[in-house]
Amino acid sequence: MLPTAENIEMMKNINLLSERGIYPCPVCRCGQVTAMTLMEAMNCDTCFHIFAPDWEQQRLKLADSEVALTWHWTGKRWKDSSRAGFESHWGYWLGGLLFVSLPTILVGFSAYLFPPLPGSRGAWFPLVWMGIVFVTHLICLLWLVIEYYQFPFFLYFQTWGQRWRDRRGS
Ligand SMILES: [Zn+2]
Repeated sequence: MLPTAENIEMMKNINLLSERGIYPCPVCRCGQVTAMTLMEAMNCDTCFHIFAPDWEQQRLKLADSEVALTWHWTGKRWKDSSRAGFESHWGYWLGGLLFVSLPTILVGFSAYLFPPLPGSRGAWFPLVWMGIVFVTHLICLLWLVIEYYQFPFFLYFQTWGQRWRDRRGS
């Protein structure tokens, strides 16, 4: 059976972002986002964050935070707007791996080529330096990944902390 033009239009409308719909919360990922009565805004019933919807662009913008976060509604789930059409590629992962491992290997190699005198006071230094180089590069990489995925870690944990306190209080 071929779908009629009317059916297609209906199917399209079902999953659209609209003021009548109920959507999963992109911040706490456990609440439901619905339109607020008499307002051009939506809010979550769990974390109480307020969002500014854009019906035309099918977007939701976090309105009550200084962090500029925007999500695009795909019809099934939220997608980070800044990543739309940007596929993750093995090259990025390879780049990340090299970014962390290369400096560490370089530092380790120089310590291997010019080892400290055995029993000298600074003999521990190359190993500690290697650790510092590894950890700092890893932090840089993790920060980039978090920025890229726009995952609101702070808001997420704040919500979970709030829920935990509420549960304990009641
Ligand atoms: Zn929420």
